[in-house]
Amino acid sequence: MPGKNLSRDEAQQRASLLSVHGYEVHLDVTSAPDADATTFRSTTTIRFSCTTPGAGSFADLLAPSMRAATLNGRRLDPAAVFDGARVALEGLEAENVLVVDADCAYSRTGEGLHRFTDPADGETYLYTHYEPAEARRVFANFEQPDLKAPYRFTVTAPAAWDVYSNAAEESVTEQDGAKVWRFLETKPISTYLTAVVAGPYHVVRDHWSRELPDGSTLEIPLAATCRRSLAPHFDAEEIFEVTKQGLDFFHEEFQYPYPFGKYDQCFVPEYNIGAMENPGCVTFKEDFVFRSRVTEAAYENRANVVLHEMAHMWFGDLVTMKWWDDLWLKESFADFMGSFGQQEATKYQAAWVTFANQRKAWAYRQDQYPTTHPITADIRDVEDAKLNFDGITYAKGAAVLKQLVAYAGRDAFFEGARRYFQQHAFGNTVLGDLLEVLAVTSGRGEQAMAEWSAAWLQTAGVNSLTPQVTVDAEGRITELAIEQGGEVLRPHRIAVGLYDREADGALVRTARFELDVTGARSAVAEAAGRPRPALILVNDDDLTYCKIRFDADSLATLRTSLGDIREPLARALAWSACWNMTRDGLLPARDYLDLVVRFAGSESDIGVLQTLHAQARSALDVFADPGYRAEGGRLLAESALRELRAAAPGSDQQLAWARFLAATAQGEAEFQLLEGLLAGTARIDGLEVDQDLRWSLWIALAAAGRATVEQLDAELKRDHTASGSQKATQALAARPTAAAKAAAWSAVADSDQLPNAMVGAQTAGFQQAGQRELTAPYTARYFELLESIWAERSIEIAIRFVGGFFPRLQTDEATLAATDAWLTEHQQAAPALRRLVLECRDELARALRAQAADRG
Ligand SMILES: [Zn+2]
Repeated sequence: MPGKNLSRDEAQQRASLLSVHGYEVHLDVTSAPDADATTFRSTTTIRFSCTTPGAGSFADLLAPSMRAATLNGRRLDPAAVFDGARVALEGLEAENVLVVDADCAYSRTGEGLHRFTDPADGETYLYTHYEPAEARRVFANFEQPDLKAPYRFTVTAPAAWDVYSNAAEESVTEQDGAKVWRFLETKPISTYLTAVVAGPYHVVRDHWSRELPDGSTLEIPLAATCRRSLAPHFDAEEIFEVTKQGLDFFHEEFQYPYPFGKYDQCFVPEYNIGAMENPGCVTFKEDFVFRSRVTEAAYENRANVVLHEMAHMWFGDLVTMKWWDDLWLKESFADFMGSFGQQEATKYQAAWVTFANQRKAWAYRQDQYPTTHPITADIRDVEDAKLNFDGITYAKGAAVLKQLVAYAGRDAFFEGARRYFQQHAFGNTVLGDLLEVLAVTSGRGEQAMAEWSAAWLQTAGVNSLTPQVTVDAEGRITELAIEQGGEVLRPHRIAVGLYDREADGALVRTARFELDVTGARSAVAEAAGRPRPALILVNDDDLTYCKIRFDADSLATLRTSLGDIREPLARALAWSACWNMTRDGLLPARDYLDLVVRFAGSESDIGVLQTLHAQARSALDVFADPGYRAEGGRLLAESALRELRAAAPGSDQQLAWARFLAATAQGEAEFQLLEGLLAGTARIDGLEVDQDLRWSLWIALAAAGRATVEQLDAELKRDHTASGSQKATQALAARPTAAAKAAAWSAVADSDQLPNAMVGAQTAGFQQAGQRELTAPYTARYFELLESIWAERSIEIAIRFVGGFFPRLQTDEATLAATDAWLTEHQQAAPALRRLVLECRDELARALRAQAADRG
């Protein structure tokens, strides 16, 4: 559709012409509970000025129809000015009033105004999600982050509903059997940050207050909402606890009072991402409402997301990037602050371990794709923007900020943030605005900050740091040097740790040296003369962003003793380094699996353990030589069973191993245990087989051909919920029959009616490592459909199709050749589509290299 993919050039042009005084938006969603109603009425009044009277511009609106529009009282002919994506505006005056009356569509893709009907009780729920550019699906606007304006929302909704928005409600009145919710005017914010949440949501309220330096008291009402049928599982107190800790922490550090009045946190169904920082009305995926037992890692992750979104109230909402090139300005900060705040202000003390081990793995993966980009990116249009919510913008950006804190100092970093908020409140910024304050507060000066920025923010790629050690006849270090690899060499502030055994066998740090690594080779002068240690760990304490390598002796120590490293962070770094080496073909996949089999059982950090489980699956399914898969799979399954039986009853480790057994089971005895756990005829002391675990077991059995449709239907009757429906769909798609594969494929490929969550369930079930032959015929169909799916579906669904159905388990030369052929023949395909396929292609090529390394 022309005009749907708004470009940076168009946005710049429009921002140079227009400034927006305010929006009044009226949405009538009284039809929402009627499943046959496909649209809702949306009326928008925009007051704005134009620097060049007589000029033309446009408003954005993605809607099935526009009923009417007036510009400065002049009627516009819908047929002439509206093309489905834009409203053409000609003959602008210095001051303008645009009124657009449209029918907008209820969404089932999580973009725009999403509508969901709860299978448990038939209740209907709505919420909006816009980033980067979907507010135009709900009301006419100027959809770009730098045209900020205040909003007044009015929502007419069914009488039994509650409605939430960015601002508090001003009045709620009855009208024709419905209720009209008028909200107070918001502060000036960007279109993508506006929000409406409506439905019979369950709500829990609380309150936070704080005395400000001027003696006044800041009062912030808190609310947390979820669907009614989830209310029995909703632990709002725990959410409020983290919320209050975060509000205290950010006020302490930022010294800028929370500016958006109230703080609602809404947990919503079928949400496409983890959460969204709408000012005063944050939306979260409702997987964060735990229906079944989850491990501490899940609570930790949720707390991290709560703090991430809260940090955005300042970084992103109060001060917003001018365009999506500087998306990192908000995401890197929020990601960093999520972990930082967690460590400093909450009970979750493994935040930096999780960051080092999981979050950075995402960055390292993304940064080695041919499509990687500098943290400050070149974003030509909103399709580009959609794809840049990636491992670079979030995790690498956050890692680089962690490095900046090591480089500039914590106080300088926060003083820079405080000045940045003061200078740019309610405005828009670019990279230079931040560097300017940091140059002053760090004391390092403009030149140094510019160099730092050029190295870290404006170039792509990851360095490797490898220790080179020479030893004399007495076993003493004559020289320890750090060699830096990579296309662009960067300044790294790092710590190097030397580890040796204690009497009890534990590997502990006996020396730590902090230094700047600048060029290709940097000596660690203080290490000379010390005895050669058992293990040399570069980037100890995880100060910088790099791939850690080892000298031969240290690697030998890890092979026999990785689990003996006492400190959780150092151990997590060792695991992470071994995983990167496996991906790079420097450590055979079977050796990585051997490490997992031998040492995962003693891993005390539950988040690290769960990461090991996921990575072991990838190592086996993708990176191991196909000839080794059967044996490697058997070893993993045996270890899962052994560790499950050995784990402390009722522990997180026990639950994690139970899930891992379901994911790896392949022998008759293992499957019989899974069946027995479901039937209640087998027990593992302390292990509660609750609903989520039941579904994990059913999916495993379904994939192995050991679950009938009748059994899965019966389980769905037992768990007739949103989550149950998704899991049942995944289990049905996982069955090892040609018909099951065809049905899953067709449900997504042949119809655009499937909601986002169900698309995910179908693709997850479709791809099974043990079913490569069954799914092989779909490779050709996949490439045939790519372009039409991209053109016809919403971008969210198209992304799910491209990633979900890519034949990633067909790790062979033929699939690589088919991918290359598509890329060669589709040079003109949408850049965002090509980017996704290039990334899948790169994973496949990496898998083939790793398999060759594993064959030896
Ligand atoms: Zn964010």
